[in-house]
Amino acid sequence: MSDQEELKQHFAQRVIHQAREVLEVWQQLQRSEWNDSYRSALADANQRLRRFAERFEQAEHRQLALGIDDCLGDINDNRGRLSSDTIATLSQLIYRLARTGLRHGDPRGQSGYVPPLSKPVYIALEDHERANHVVRQLEFFSMTARAFASDSEFRAAMHERHPAALVMDVDFNGAGAGLKLAESIQQGLEEKLPLIFFSHQETDTPMRLAAVRAGGLEFFTGAIDASSLLEKIEIFTRTAHYEPFRVLIIDDSRAQATHTERVLNNAGIITQTLNEPIQAITYLAEFQPDLIILDMYMPDCMGTELAKVIRQHERYVSVPIIYLSAEDDLDKQLDAMNEGGDDFLTKPIKPSHLIATVRTRAERARSLKARIVRDSLTGLYNHTHSLQLLEDASSRARRDGRPLCFAMIDIDHFKKVNDTYGHPMGDRVIKSLALFLKQRLRKTDHIGRYGGEEFAVVLPDTDLQNAVKVIDEIRKRFAEIHYPAQPVDLSCTFSCGIAQLLPDISTKLLTQQADEALYLAKNGGRNQVAGFAPSHK
Ligand code: GH3
Ligand code: MG
Ligand code: MG
Repeated sequence: MSDQEELKQHFAQRVIHQAREVLEVWQQLQRSEWNDSYRSALADANQRLRRFAERFEQAEHRQLALGIDDCLGDINDNRGRLSSDTIATLSQLIYRLARTGLRHGDPRGQSGYVPPLSKPVYIALEDHERANHVVRQLEFFSMTARAFASDSEFRAAMHERHPAALVMDVDFNGAGAGLKLAESIQQGLEEKLPLIFFSHQETDTPMRLAAVRAGGLEFFTGAIDASSLLEKIEIFTRTAHYEPFRVLIIDDSRAQATHTERVLNNAGIITQTLNEPIQAITYLAEFQPDLIILDMYMPDCMGTELAKVIRQHERYVSVPIIYLSAEDDLDKQLDAMNEGGDDFLTKPIKPSHLIATVRTRAERARSLKARIVRDSLTGLYNHTHSLQLLEDASSRARRDGRPLCFAMIDIDHFKKVNDTYGHPMGDRVIKSLALFLKQRLRKTDHIGRYGGEEFAVVLPDTDLQNAVKVIDEIRKRFAEIHYPAQPVDLSCTFSCGIAQLLPDISTKLLTQQADEALYLAKNGGRNQVAGFAPSHK
């Protein structure tokens, strides 16, 4: 590396450090209520970020800092209150800030690479070679990780910086010692670490119980696999944090609704109010809430009646409904719960109680939903849900007059992979392509497992030319992966067909066009991306 590049990296690190501070204040907000001290902490950290970014010519960070500054200005104008719009904008900016450095591609292949902002993962395994191997694999997916050779080295690192997650071998540093070590670390922390235990051998229930008591969220046994590990870490860390909850409030009283909105907004929760219950279904489809707060008594209909109507739609069967009412008759409350409600809060309600209830309910609903709509091997959306998302995204694109592309990806000669290396190896390739796509596409893109070794991607706000460019870049990178295997390492390629949504095209036709383009890519020799052109007909 040249001196100049080294210097550049050094400065980039300073900017990264400032950005981390901004992210940490924001994360605290996800667990608390918005108040003056958070606001000024965020403003201060962001000012520093902007100054450093300007001084060291980091254009992307500078732009994000200016955006955050604008949002904070809006909050000031709003006398310190957060609005749903500001929450949405802020969380987008914060998300992008957290991702800066992640989208630059392979860390080893680029000079002047800026390391990701997200915290590293600590790996403490009894088998050090194995630990180093896991670190390298995680790095391939742009996640920083660190392995430790001893108890003291690990403690020193903990002292320096807390990890995004900790993977601890129960036998790290001696039989059963890892478990005790993790336990003692957790005890000293106000903010518990996402902790994953590992044991080389199958374990008994007392061991698992001890792991749960020590705050373990997962327990892996046998061989540790980087892609399933990464998937868990993603769930525990990044993805969970930057997506604000969305709450639909249905209440005929504007005053009551405004009050509820304010309380929730100040906890960083996005809200929308509906004063006319009759329109509920339309609003649900548009707003896609994580949770509904429903007034019990409204002039046009009862809350319980509306809950029944909502529950008749299969898509909304699992959206939690919380009744809000002055009703304090316990029997009536119980009745209401039987009518499709999940909780019952009586007015006037303490803000902290309302926030806590909404957060826990919404959180659970999200993880439940993730299980229903996701494919279990890859964690991607399953076939049905992918099409549902395509439908939703297409109608938004049509309404806003924005472009949209649909891509179908199919791994080349996959049968041979199974035949030569076995089915489990095939599964590994599928999983790793899934992760690869997740890491390299935008958050606004939807990625689904369409079938066995086929994937579907919805790319909103993207025209054909750009979609082809983006997927082609991923194609090249994916082909470079070598999976260690016998007798020779394995590498795979994929082919992809993409079609753009045009006026008067149904989503059904769009998927057919993408499929046609995929066929062309396969026919043209595989390992390539083809865009659908009407003249191909
Ligand atoms: P090409 O697409 O390049 O034309 O060739 P291919 O060999 O990939 O095509 P084909 O669609 O005929 O074969 C796909 C194979 O993928 C068949 C099936 O056994 C395998 N497959 C499907 N789902 C899974 C899975 O979940 N795990 C594994 N290991 N294999 C799977
Ligand atoms: Mg196929
Ligand atoms: Mg195939």
